[in-house]
This record gives sequence, structure tokens and C-alpha cells, in this order.
Amino acid sequence: MSSFNQESVLSVHHWTDTLFSFTTTRDPSFRFRNGEFTMIGLKVGERPLLRAYSVASANYEDRLEFFSIKVPDGPLTSRLQHLKEGDEIIVSRKATGTLVIDNLEDGRNLYLIGTGTGLAPFLSVIKDPETYDRFEKVVLLHGCRHVAELAYGEMITEHLPNDELIGELVRNQLIYYPTVTRDPFRNRGRITDLMSSGKLYSDAGLAPLEAAHDRVMICGSPALVQDTRTLLLGKGFSEGNHGEPGQFVLEKAFAER
Ligand SMILES: Cc1cc2nc3c(=O)[nH]c(=O)nc-3n(C[C@H](O)[C@H](O)[C@H](O)COP(=O)(O)OP(=O)(O)OC[C@H]3O[C@@H](n4cnc5c(N)ncnc54)[C@H](O)[C@@H]3O)c2cc1C
Repeated sequence: MSSFNQESVLSVHHWTDTLFSFTTTRDPSFRFRNGEFTMIGLKVGERPLLRAYSVASANYEDRLEFFSIKVPDGPLTSRLQHLKEGDEIIVSRKATGTLVIDNLEDGRNLYLIGTGTGLAPFLSVIKDPETYDRFEKVVLLHGCRHVAELAYGEMITEHLPNDELIGELVRNQLIYYPTVTRDPFRNRGRITDLMSSGKLYSDAGLAPLEAAHDRVMICGSPALVQDTRTLLLGKGFSEGNHGEPGQFVLEKAFAER
């Protein structure tokens, strides 16, 4: 049996000239935990061209969703950005990754820190009822340069609170905090600066991060991941991994060339 499924594209949405999302059919045999990534791609000539992608849809949904960058000269995304309804894409049958709530110790509040397409794994985590069972408050931070890059804001603030399955949990427990660095907006600045200055906590009405109570997941640029890791280790947080739950877990949203 092949280690890949062929899926058909069901819809494509372009957020900006550098970001887009698409949904596909889902083979019922494809199982994943919310927060995991898989390999997806296209056939180029006879060979598959594959890259790691977080699954942005929840594991109980019958479609798959992906949130993608468009790298102008990127081997995959220079092609992938032209996807249209009905096109075929290749999706691995396996998913993996560290950004799953099983890799975290129990705690009070869960902070999900994503920059750019690093939001993707958290889109499935915030749709998981178990996330709200395990944590009192779920704080989703999304940092971008420009307001137009704050993709999924409307889905998070308008649609999820009215969702049949998780609407009530979202209304009572999810705090969404988008922030940008280069446009005027209600929240401005880098996530790590907003944490260090305490502005995030006063804006969100939360106590400052504490290893004893709070748990954190991080997904973003290598620089964001590094800076946040340093900040958390400095506060005495322990890093979790597969099989060894900790107080925070992280994943780079992309590898540097
Ligand atoms: C665990 C993991 C999960 C990932 N999940 C996603 C995802 O959900 N969505 C997504 O778009 N990408 C994701 N990526 C990145 C993805 O695998 C590819 O790198 C990306 O699709 C670009 O592919 P490419 O072949 O066009 O260019 P590549 O040759 O792969 O990348 C070229 C350069 O573009 C930049 N770049 C690549 N991806 C990004 C990005 N997402 N944001 C900003 N700059 C980037 C980097 O500088 C990189 O060196 C993930 C990577 C890893 C390791």
C-alpha cells in the first residue's frame, strides 16, 4: 500500500499575495492528533515534491485544511499557490509533531503562540473539546507584520463561538489576541515584547505567566521560537517532548534555507 493518499482540492482562499488556505477531501483512513503536521505536495514530472504542513482542520472534520505561505521561488509553493478546485494533491498517510496537548503537563491556562503560518496547528487545537477540558483558559496569540495577514480572525471571533460542538467552550474559555508589528492596530508589537512588558496580561486580564500554572505551545519563525524558548526557560519552564510531557512545547513553522 502506498504511504500517500491522493486528495482533491475542494476550495481555495487567498488572504494576501503571500498567504492562502485550501481544503481537500480526506481519506477516512488518515488519522491525526490536533496540532500535528503531515507531508503534502504535488507530482512534479514523475516524482512527488513534498513539504511538511500542519493540519489546520480538526481531526473530527471530514475535510482537511491547510494554511500556506507563497514563497515566490519556493519549489513547492510557487506551484501550490495556483491550486484550484478539483486539482489533486498528495497527502501522507502519517502525521506527527510535538504540538499536541498530550505533550503538556496539566495546568491552568494554555497559551498558543503562533506567528505567520505558525497559527495553523493551533486552528485544530482550538477546535478540540479536550483542549477546553484540560485547561481553564486557552489564549491564542497570533503575531504578524500586517493586519491583512491576521488570517482566520473572523472564523475565530464570529464562527467558532457559534459552532454547535464547541461554541460554548470557545465563548467561555478562548481568548484571541492578534498583534501586528508594522500597521496601526489595537494590539501592536512582538509577542515576546508584549509578554516581557506585561502588556499582554493586562490587556487580556490574566496573571503573568508562571511555570506552576501555565502551559505554552509555540509555532513560528525560527527567531520567535528561539526567543520564546529562552524567555520560558528563564522563568523556570521545562520543555516537553514525545513521551515526556513538559510545561511548554515548540515547533518551527518552517526550516530556514
Ligand atoms: C514541522 C513543519 C510544519 C510546517 N507547516 C507549514 C504550514 O502549515 N504552512 C506553511 O505554509 N508552511 C509550513 N511549513 C513550511 C513548509 O514545509 C515549506 O517550507 C513551505 O511550504 C515552502 O515550501 P517551498 O518548497 O515553496 O519552499 P522551501 O524551499 O521549503 O522554503 C524556502 C524558504 O521560504 C521560507 N519559508 C518557508 N515556509 C515558510 C513559512 N511557512 N512562513 C514563512 N517563510 C517560510 C524559508 O525562509 C525557507 O527557507 C512547515 C515546516 C515544518 C518543518
